[in-house]
Amino acid sequence: MKLIIGKILVLSLLLFTVESLVAQENIVDESLALVQNDSLLLDSNLVQNQDELTDFLVPISISEDEIPCTNIYETWNNDHVRINPASISTIDTILVLVNDSSRFVFPFEGKMISNFGQRGRRTHSGLDIKLQKGDTVVSAFDGVVRMAKTYSGYGKIVVVRHYNGLETVYSHFSEILVAVNQKVKAGEPLGLGGRTGRATTEHLHFETRYLGVAFHPMHILDFDNFDLKTDTLILNRKTFRISNRPIYQNIVDIESDDEHSETEHEIAPSASSSTPEIHIVKKGDSLYAISRRYGKSVKQLCELNSINENSILNIGQRIKLN
Ligand SMILES: [Zn+2]
Repeated sequence: MKLIIGKILVLSLLLFTVESLVAQENIVDESLALVQNDSLLLDSNLVQNQDELTDFLVPISISEDEIPCTNIYETWNNDHVRINPASISTIDTILVLVNDSSRFVFPFEGKMISNFGQRGRRTHSGLDIKLQKGDTVVSAFDGVVRMAKTYSGYGKIVVVRHYNGLETVYSHFSEILVAVNQKVKAGEPLGLGGRTGRATTEHLHFETRYLGVAFHPMHILDFDNFDLKTDTLILNRKTFRISNRPIYQNIVDIESDDEHSETEHEIAPSASSSTPEIHIVKKGDSLYAISRRYGKSVKQLCELNSINENSILNIGQRIKLN
């Protein structure tokens, strides 16, 4: 009997320690003021009961050359959201979000009910869009499903890696409709709306990440028109900053016209503000198109990158611009 009680005590102590560790991990150092935590924040203290067990679709096999951006990601990980996160200070690039061969579709046209950013001492690593159970959520861009499973607070989650290296995260599904390694097109259904994981109401938790680090989805999403805000996105230290200003913090601001512009421009620089250091080659890019976009001559680009006019560009290849 003593032995059993002893065992229970040890077990409780272990559980307690593990819980404290998990709790600590979710708290972001405010001095950093950058998004670095993996998990989404609890939408409230209420935690839904254990999700019912579901059979997920069997992963599809994929060859290495079909995996997007193996040159910038170390792994093709099917288990975790945040993988080999890069240091934010080293991320300085421009992403072409759409072009002639790839388009964008708004994941779910609904009201934003919770914003990205600081919530007390924690950081909400995405934004929440209201939906009803069973509503169809679609992929924002073309890509390959990296993750499709039940995952801690996210519940049923799908992560898609796109061909420019961007990753989008969709969670709290009631049902997942895709399998790991499945190629998806923009607008293709990924899952049905729900409230699995730590959610108190049916909604879509949506994240945008690059090299494992979350940034504000409002850099690309236009909730007024349910469209893309920009065709190209500059990613640098500033993009990953969590703003304490009200523009992205308060949903009322998103609905009122007059408070929209000023901080928005400061936080989300337009593509023309300055020439980035590097362009990552996207499907359909040519040396000529890149030269036109950044106002550099083809000759300049060739010299900078030790290539010639007839060199074949590979998707994901980094082209120096300065
Ligand atoms: Zn959320």
